[in-house]
Amino acid sequence: MKKIAILGSTGSIGTQTLDIVREQKDIEVVALAAGSNITLLEQQIREFSPKLVCVFKEEAAEALKIKIADTDTKVVSKMEGLIEVAVHPESEILVTAIVGMMGIRPTVAAIKAGKKIALANKETLVTAGHIIIPLAKEYHVPILPVDSEHSAIFQSLQGNESNRIEKILLTASGGPFRGKNAEDLAEMKVEDALKHPNWSMGRKITIDSSTLVNKGLEVMEAKWLFGVELDQIEVVVHPQSVIHSAVQYEDGAVIAQLGTPDMRLPIQYALYYPERRKMSGKRLDLFELGSLTFERPDTKTFRGLALAYDAMRKGGSQPTVFNAANERAVAMFLDRRISYPQITEIIEDCMEHVAYISDPTLDQVLETEQAVYEYIGQKWA
Ligand code: NAD
Ligand code: MG
Repeated sequence: MKKIAILGSTGSIGTQTLDIVREQKDIEVVALAAGSNITLLEQQIREFSPKLVCVFKEEAAEALKIKIADTDTKVVSKMEGLIEVAVHPESEILVTAIVGMMGIRPTVAAIKAGKKIALANKETLVTAGHIIIPLAKEYHVPILPVDSEHSAIFQSLQGNESNRIEKILLTASGGPFRGKNAEDLAEMKVEDALKHPNWSMGRKITIDSSTLVNKGLEVMEAKWLFGVELDQIEVVVHPQSVIHSAVQYEDGAVIAQLGTPDMRLPIQYALYYPERRKMSGKRLDLFELGSLTFERPDTKTFRGLALAYDAMRKGGSQPTVFNAANERAVAMFLDRRISYPQITEIIEDCMEHVAYISDPTLDQVLETEQAVYEYIGQKWA
């Protein structure tokens, strides 16, 4: 049995990870963590019998304890609880399917405890990649990408470890607003932005896909995961989401991974790497597709991607400012407190005004996050 722990088990990636556990039958779930959805957590506890569960919110954890008093599962809460799940002595792999910078500390703890990391939580690498990547090297812990594009790049690198990457072609669907101009975007409401053309995902990342901020975060994630320079990463808009990304080598060969848009494949690949297990589901039908198309991203209309490149070029604490400002702005947009274009306005404003640190420590990364929240609270709330 392969033993795993999952941070964010009630979310989009978390529940799909459990779908794989259900299908494969040789994975044991030893620990789970979620924010507050104790109804679903209770079902997961009854189905998978984990030894430990963390509910971040304390009151919710207390309520869950009462509901599952007849089971052997221990319930913990808060950041200490997330860390306890991340370092559970029996687990070999930690799936980081939590959303936001909340994932940083548990990921650091898991690496230090020697756990393999199946990483979906891109915000961790975006903001603390300069700490996480060297740490993983020091502890000889593999970081296996779950994000579909990064999994595609990782798959395209297999057997080519000694060859130099000339360029990474990072594909993007373009989101629901592809082809729109700034005037159109001003009118967009929460419902419009939540309609992703190809992928079904959590709310935050779905909004990020519509602004292209998600692609910006993925460029940064790719830089850290694959150790390439920023100008070696080219974003290619590919509306069909069939080519999940590709690597171009020095001889000009381009190796890509293709498939239907189904997150279970990258999740399963990370869990069983380097093995490819049988997976149920739809197969890619090239005849049905007929053609694949490609465009350059419109960074004038979708400022989020341009700002991400600016943040990464400046480095230091700037990617944290970019990420934290986006996180807060997206939450405000989902609460209908700001308009759609204000998401990128807030990011840009924070990047100009929040104090810059050139080589932030982990504490400084988290302090920068707080500084962004305070700045937005004063100016925009
Ligand atoms: P989601 O919103 O569906 O799920 C988030 C999960 O995190 C939930 O289980 C929630 O309870 C948990 N969570 C939130 N705050 C928490 C806290 N304080 N303590 C404990 N648990 C907490 O999000 P998602 O779409 O599954 O995305 C998760 C991560 O994976 C994100 O970083 C996202 O960028 C990345 N990702 C997702 C997809 C996708 O297809 N959904 C694809 C690529 C990458
Ligand atoms: Mg992705």
